Order: sequence, then structure tokens, then C-alpha cells
Amino acid sequence: KVITPPPYAGVPGAPSDAIVLLGQNSDLSQWQHDDNSSAKWEVSNGIMTVKPSTGQIKTKELFSDCQLHIEWSAPTEIKGKSQGRGNSGVFLQGRYEVQILDNYQNETYMNGQAGSIYKQTPPLVNPIRKPGEWNTYDIIFTAPRFKEDGTLHTHGRITVLFNGVLVQNNTMILGTTEYIGLPQINAHGDGPIILQDHGDKVRFRNIWIRKL
Ligand code: MG
Repeated sequence: KVITPPPYAGVPGAPSDAIVLLGQNSDLSQWQHDDNSSAKWEVSNGIMTVKPSTGQIKTKELFSDCQLHIEWSAPTEIKGKSQGRGNSGVFLQGRYEVQILDNYQNETYMNGQAGSIYKQTPPLVNPIRKPGEWNTYDIIFTAPRFKEDGTLHTHGRITVLFNGVLVQNNTMILGTTEYIGLPQINAHGDGPIILQDHGDKVRFRNIWIRKL
């Protein structure tokens, strides 16, 4: 169901105990590519833009349970449809994707919408703003726990507020994000936040995280 979110009222800034991953300057020092090279995405005055084909970026620091705030904006030049329009994503512990997609008047499969746990759980509603406007995700993540023998003890859990609207309500994470096939459960420790390069010039700003 499409709903109209409240107007964007954000002034970039983070609580004092947060780790700022993208502030109001042009500092990408918290980020790197998979080969550990410096992040090549474009950044100016606190706004970072995916540079297609440079690949995804990940935080140097690794995280477990966390509160993550991230703002993103879809390209104003509308091209492509369904998953081909304004696609990116934010991965918790490098494995579990909360989908970023330009879902404004753009239909796609239900568990591939913005705010979905990709290919697992659709968002409760679609409160997206127009391309070019800023969307916010506030994510509360509880990491899965594993036993000493590597089997699952408890599933991960995730709550997502999308533009202030609840779209994931303590949702159980079934396992890794897979494009095709069932989610996988593999024991792991802390992991990075990853932002996806899906070939679209999605913009980001005001990213901060609190360890829980
Ligand atoms: Mg994606």
C-alpha cells in the first residue's frame, strides 16, 4: 500500500554517542571497497553518490547489534523500471540487505520494494518520497546468535522506520540475502555496513551508527 509520509524535516546531525559514517564534509575515510582500496564514490558537501561500476563500499569498522540512520535519494533522471530504477541497498553485517529502490510510481515484486528485507519480507507500506527528495531509514538491528558448533542459536531481527513510518516490525531475518535460492545460515561474527553499487546514481547523506 502506498502512503504519503510526513514531510522531510531532517537537519543532518548525529547523537553524541554515534559513529558518523558520512557527515557534512567530504570525508569518506570510514569506507573502502571490497579490495580495501579507498572509496571511489563521488562526495561533495556531505552528499555521496554511487559511482557506477566502482563497486560496493563497506565500512572499515565491523558491527553487530546497532542503530543505523541513513538518508538516500533516488536519481531525478527517471530511467529503467522495476529493479532497474534507483537501486542500491544497505547491508547489515555485510549479508542482510534492506533494499533501496526508487519505488515512486514504479512497481516491482513485493519483497524487492524499498524497505524490504530483500527477497524475504516486504515492507508493511510504501512511504517513499519522490526522486530527488531525501528518504530516511532508521534501522534497529539485532544480529543472529550462533552456538559454538556454528549452528544457529537465534535469528537476527530488524526494525525499519522508513521516513518515520514503520515498515519492518522486529522482522525475523531468515538468513543471507540471496537473489535466487533460499537464505543461507552461516555462522559469522561482526561485519561491515555495505552500500550497494547497482549501477544507479543513488545519493546518500547523514549516515551514522550507534553500537548497541
Ligand atoms: Mg539493492
